[in-house]
Amino acid sequence: MAMEKILQKTQLTRDDLIALLSVTEPAELQKLYAAGYAQKLKVSGNFDYYRGLIEFSNRCIKNCLYCGIRRDNTEVQRFDTTLQDILTQARWIYEQNFGSIVLQSGERQDPEFITFVETVLREIKKLSHGELGITLCVGEETEATYRRWFEAGAHRYLLRIESSKPELYQTLHPQDGHHVWQVRKHCLELLRQIGYQVGTGVMIGLPGQTVADLADDILFYRDMDIDMIGMGPYVVHHNTPLGKQVVAAGLDSKEEQQRRLELSLKMIAVTRLFLKDVNIAATTALQALHPLGRELGLKAGANVLMPVATLPEFRTSYLLYDNKPCVADSATKCRDCLDARIAAIGDRVGYGAWGDSKHFYKKQEQ
Ligand code: SAH
Ligand code: SF4
Repeated sequence: MAMEKILQKTQLTRDDLIALLSVTEPAELQKLYAAGYAQKLKVSGNFDYYRGLIEFSNRCIKNCLYCGIRRDNTEVQRFDTTLQDILTQARWIYEQNFGSIVLQSGERQDPEFITFVETVLREIKKLSHGELGITLCVGEETEATYRRWFEAGAHRYLLRIESSKPELYQTLHPQDGHHVWQVRKHCLELLRQIGYQVGTGVMIGLPGQTVADLADDILFYRDMDIDMIGMGPYVVHHNTPLGKQVVAAGLDSKEEQQRRLELSLKMIAVTRLFLKDVNIAATTALQALHPLGRELGLKAGANVLMPVATLPEFRTSYLLYDNKPCVADSATKCRDCLDARIAAIGDRVGYGAWGDSKHFYKKQEQ
């Protein structure tokens, strides 16, 4: 079926998703992105929301084959941010009127870490008089831990499924019993039951990933009743098993990077068209592959941006992939830069608002 016909349909099928994700003709691509953007305008106007991102520690017990801060990467200098420093950054985010903060780190499940995160949450709530929305993105935990953090004030949780296809997930992780797809999926279910707004996402353009797999990822978002999507291109990190394999196979050329960027923009547009009222982030990884990557994401239907507010001295140690942008910048520079990027495409910043997923509240009303 011609793309225009598909775009006129009120309900897209799996085949439609596959057809849209398979578009490569430049004029058709532009139409697809424009349709994604038009859908975003319908749902929430041209507002984009900020989440100030603090990457507070790169210690990680996991060994994901793609990630630059995986446990076995000995080239990384490990760091922890003190409570005081996190609170200083959080106060800055609050004073900037961003409305919302994301706390991200490597994964740890020890009691000291769990208590530390709980303290951070309570203190941030206190300093912002309960006004700052808090999203956690610190990996897999037990139900009891997720509950403790929810009670301490976190109200959103981001946990990417990485791929909704267990066989593909397996190729991206060591088979050591600690990287189990079913466990990750169960975590998403627990988070939902506890009452979090739940975010997930996948990496796009992975070796062995097909367009049908990506269509199934979008169906997974629907089936799991996901409120927020954070997805982006897979980007090589030179000192990882997957990165080395991709480079050796000649799969990291400029053309391949362009293909992964394009696929990611298509995923944003098609997800927006299919799920309509979810929050979708224009992730930093888009900008690792193209200087205007995040703007392109917003123009394809994304409505959330995450200005980096990590302490400058730790930015060079939190490199999940190569060419990460903004590493040399201050938090103020990141804010000004994103303000300008949003203005340049004719959008507006939703300052002072939590910018919660409309999808989540619709469900609450039912
Ligand atoms: N440790 C937590 C949060 C930090 S990692 C967790 O894993 O959930 C956050 C995300 O970074 C991961 O979910 C993964 O999708 C992404 N990521 C890691 N390495 C990447 C790479 N090489 N390219 C693109 N995204 C990557
Ligand atoms: Fe750790 Fe997350 Fe990186 Fe996996 S993706 S190694 S859990 S920081």
